[in-house]
Amino acid sequence: MRGQLQNIEGQDYSQSNLDAVPNIDFYLNRMSDLMNNPVIEEYLSHFECPVCYERMAPPIHQCVEGHVICNPCFLRLIICPKCRSKFSEFRCKAMETLYKNVILPCKNYSKGCKFIGPGDVHIGHESNCEFGDK
Ligand SMILES: [Zn+2]
Ligand SMILES: [Zn+2]
Ligand SMILES: [Zn+2]
Repeated sequence: MRGQLQNIEGQDYSQSNLDAVPNIDFYLNRMSDLMNNPVIEEYLSHFECPVCYERMAPPIHQCVEGHVICNPCFLRLIICPKCRSKFSEFRCKAMETLYKNVILPCKNYSKGCKFIGPGDVHIGHESNCEFGDK
């Protein structure tokens, strides 16, 4: 484990590259560590739709009490499955912004997909992911 960490830290992310967006290798090298991190696991759990357990992606909806729900479930249901309130006409912008900006593994990670990147890159990837449900 220690050796592995040193390996990652030992790579050349020189000063001139600090302003650049890290390339995909940067994320890949960190993915296995990330996915074993309970904080990340907790973070990802907030993107799990409480109804279908799929990863939520924008548009992310919410009920008037603030419970979030994925778009397909929102379109299918008429009341919040958690509190039975009606849905809000406002989407959950905070979750949508988080999704777009934070680095996430592909939702098919557990099936073997190695893709990782900011959420708005995911929207394109996941609809074509070779590990996804066909
Ligand atoms: Zn859902
Ligand atoms: Zn609710
Ligand atoms: Zn994928």
